[in-house]
Amino acid sequence: MNRQGRPTTPGVGSAETHATFTGNRAILQEEALLFELGRADATGVDFDEPEPFIARLGTLERTGDIGLPGLSEPEAVRHYVRLSQRNFSIDTGPVPLGSCTMKHNPRLNERMARLPGFADVHPLQPVSTVPGALALMQELAAWLMEITGMPAISLSPRAGAHGELCGMAAIKSAIAAKGEAATRKVVLVPDSAHGTNPATAAMVGMPVRAVPVRADGTVDPAEVAKLVGPDIAALMITNPNTCGLFERDIAEIARIVHEAGAYIYCDGANLNAIMGRARPGDLGIDAMQINLHKTFSTPHGGGGPGSGPVVLSARVSAFAPLPLLRTGADGVELVEVGADADEARPFGRLSAFHGQMGMFVRALTYMLSHGGDGLAQASDDAVLAANYIRVGLADLMSLPFGNRLCMQEVLFDDAWLKDSGVTTLDFAKAMIDEGYHPMTMYFPLVVHGAMLIEPTESESKASLDLFVATLRDLALAARAGDSERFTGAPYYAPRRRLDETRAARQPVLRWTPPAPIAEAAE
Ligand SMILES: *Cc1c(COP(=O)(O)O)cnc(C)c1O
Repeated sequence: MNRQGRPTTPGVGSAETHATFTGNRAILQEEALLFELGRADATGVDFDEPEPFIARLGTLERTGDIGLPGLSEPEAVRHYVRLSQRNFSIDTGPVPLGSCTMKHNPRLNERMARLPGFADVHPLQPVSTVPGALALMQELAAWLMEITGMPAISLSPRAGAHGELCGMAAIKSAIAAKGEAATRKVVLVPDSAHGTNPATAAMVGMPVRAVPVRADGTVDPAEVAKLVGPDIAALMITNPNTCGLFERDIAEIARIVHEAGAYIYCDGANLNAIMGRARPGDLGIDAMQINLHKTFSTPHGGGGPGSGPVVLSARVSAFAPLPLLRTGADGVELVEVGADADEARPFGRLSAFHGQMGMFVRALTYMLSHGGDGLAQASDDAVLAANYIRVGLADLMSLPFGNRLCMQEVLFDDAWLKDSGVTTLDFAKAMIDEGYHPMTMYFPLVVHGAMLIEPTESESKASLDLFVATLRDLALAARAGDSERFTGAPYYAPRRRLDETRAARQPVLRWTPPAPIAEAAE
């Protein structure tokens, strides 16, 4: 396919060739640090000269300049607006990050979350003044238990990983209550798991044993049967798993695990593929977090708040952490302390307060505006979109577990790039030149050079068609040996290849002023 406007001469697309005097790329402006832009003597406000004073804090006295940048108001405004334009977000274009579920955030969610009655409540307000907020939490809890087919829930975890910690802490308490704390310690985790799963096991003080994934990308019940025993506390499993495949044998696996006296934790981050179609409670799950910020839209990525309520089976529900919601004589009550007549034996508290209120409002808004049938439709459409991409690319890119039905995400490996001189990383960088956020790369680890694509239900057919056409064009170029298009990419981004590992491991967090020119010349 011919892409209009792409320079055909090798190298013409490079940033050097098209260098501009300002360093700007058309309306995308080069941006310096605030410290570089500012001057000590500039200010955006007009204060009177202060009375003579001593710059002293306690026994510490300031002798030099404080070194903060001074800018006029238009300079400060421009700086932050330009930075904001550097963001690529779901409002700019597709973010096909597998496992992250970057769906559109309906503005209705935001409108509801900003209603003063929800936005302005304070966690230390007397409970009697917030019956509406408690009723909303209770209704959200009812929807989540209905969707998952589970009898109990804890709303307070503040992220998916925090929810994992909550569920595993409840399981650990259940084991301790049976007097098996000293012997049942090991957690089984499949090779394909998200890194948070073994990390969670470690956080609750339990060593991890890996379960190999069989050739079709799923967990083999026979393998689990070999590994379970009196030392096994739990199996942590993700369903649909991180290869985008439904664990078909989950009920059988749950039976084996329970028979051996252990528990099943399900990583529920991929609930968006099955909500309204399959209920984890029917599959034998004991605890599962629900990433509200994935399955039910709501902003995440780039630091937006998360929320990871945990649903619990009857086997572990007594150990849910405080606070608990309960319907009493006067409506919804918040149980803040201790055990009670219901034989609740909370393992403690997980968060200072009750959870992410704003996220609760957004998630419930998403549910109510979709309705039960709409949630099932969202799952169906998410799965359909991923399969549409799979079918559109299967003749050019390789599928590690065969060209078969996937769930909400499709996983390719890099076998098709062999001997092309192009790596998964190069391919992802070339997607940036095409205006796409790259897919998830090199995860899951069980697949070499993994590329995990999750379109979500919010992309239209036209959007999916353009995405497939773009990836086909890139794939054909890689196969045809046009490796330069990849190894130098991104050509059109204001920043090119960055040493991301070094940036993460040795971040430079302190700005030091450049040496005065006279000194530097010496
Ligand atoms: C996102 C994700 C998590 C962690 O969720 P956070 O909210 O980021 O803590 C865990 N497991 C899987 C499979 C995920 O996709």
